[in-house]
Amino acid sequence: MPQFEKTYDILVTGAGVAGVAAAVAAARSGLRTALVEKTVLIGGLATAGLIYAYTPLCDGLGRQVTYGIAQELLHLSMKYGPGDVPAGWRSAGSRKRTRRYGTTFSPAAFVLALDELLLAAGVETWLDTLVCLPVMDGDRVAGVEVENKSGRGILRGRALVDATGDADVAYRAGAPCEEADNWLSLWGLQASLERAREAVSQGSGDLLLCGVSVGASNTGEGHPTGMRKFSGTNGKDVTEFVLAGRVLLRQHYERRQRDGGANSRHNLFPLALPATAPFRTTRRIAGQTTLRDGMAGQSFADSVGLVGDWSKRGEVWEIPYGSLLPRKVTGLLAAGRCISSTGHAWEVTRVIHAAAHTGEIAGVAAALAVQLDTTPDALDVGKLRQELRGKGLKLDLGDIADSD
Ligand SMILES: Cc1cc2nc3c(=O)[nH]c(=O)nc-3n(C[C@H](O)[C@H](O)[C@H](O)COP(=O)(O)OP(=O)(O)OC[C@H]3O[C@@H](n4cnc5c(N)ncnc54)[C@H](O)[C@@H]3O)c2cc1C
Repeated sequence: MPQFEKTYDILVTGAGVAGVAAAVAAARSGLRTALVEKTVLIGGLATAGLIYAYTPLCDGLGRQVTYGIAQELLHLSMKYGPGDVPAGWRSAGSRKRTRRYGTTFSPAAFVLALDELLLAAGVETWLDTLVCLPVMDGDRVAGVEVENKSGRGILRGRALVDATGDADVAYRAGAPCEEADNWLSLWGLQASLERAREAVSQGSGDLLLCGVSVGASNTGEGHPTGMRKFSGTNGKDVTEFVLAGRVLLRQHYERRQRDGGANSRHNLFPLALPATAPFRTTRRIAGQTTLRDGMAGQSFADSVGLVGDWSKRGEVWEIPYGSLLPRKVTGLLAAGRCISSTGHAWEVTRVIHAAAHTGEIAGVAAALAVQLDTTPDALDVGKLRQELRGKGLKLDLGDIADSD
């Protein structure tokens, strides 16, 4: 017997940026919405993972392509801490948009602003609550079994969003998924006397936000020679990946501090470590449509959003609704880094601004499905596009053709 049981209209699993955007979008549609998170921090990799760089909302050529909650979250990331929107993006039509429309932010400050956002939207948040198994009604995901300090419980939803980053719900419900391995990487925050002096001389505390990163870049450069890659869906690998990252960080400080002086342990030391395993990739749905390399600039009849490529200027991707829909199960949408995309397309869709954007789309779609008494996979995409446009989102490349 479950120790507790509760039913909502919309149930969002995982409170990274995608889950937050999904829950806020659904709650703003007036539906009873719950958000379930296994840690006690809202924000996922962006906060608990100390990934403090919000990827840009623009195409790199001075044109904004992503709007809505992704833009709202970008600004909220700076509400209680450092970071600035580059000058050209502070006024409409500016010609000085050499820097892209993104920012760095303090993860702790972002958590405070996200807590506030969820509260204002009326989302019921469950922290320290692990989603264990889906509750199935035939091939429909009707809820999830969770575990927290009260014991085992059941949370039900008329529509669910899987924003776990790992497609945990979709996978356990039997939806086909795809997995990939990771190079070793770790981002942390550090205290640096040198940066503090710079901050004082420039009269800005923003410089106190000081990151440290060890291991590989997103292309694998910097991965320790001879070391294997790691899976984010294997319990033992997760532990080994996290511990190996911390070994690299120890070695990094040993080398720096050996010289003493400016880099002595009094002047340069680690301040915060990720409280969640910092995998770039784990598991994602193999959905009804998969975004693939070569699809940049391609139009889809069911496009529901737009994202620019953070790694190169000029490329914009339409997001087909089918990339949020798992196969073989109903009642469920994927959002964030577990939507269906692969290769470089996955590089484009996995990052913060894109995760927030697909989160909002999933939240709006889930809410509309409930309001129309249908399931997300059976939703009339025309109606969904109308709803998203009504919220100010740009959906097609044509929507931004004439914008500045
Ligand atoms: C090393 C590294 C560098 C990166 N660099 C950048 C960068 O510079 N800029 C950028 O924009 N992006 C970067 N990213 C990617 C980016 O941080 C993430 O892909 C993005 O934040 C994903 O958001 P999400 O909400 O989809 O998933 P996540 O942030 O992973 O959120 C998923 C949430 O679900 C929760 N969860 C998972 N399983 C369960 C469960 N079973 N029960 C309950 N809760 C659960 C998790 O605790 C988490 O809070 C980087 C990632 C890494 C690892």
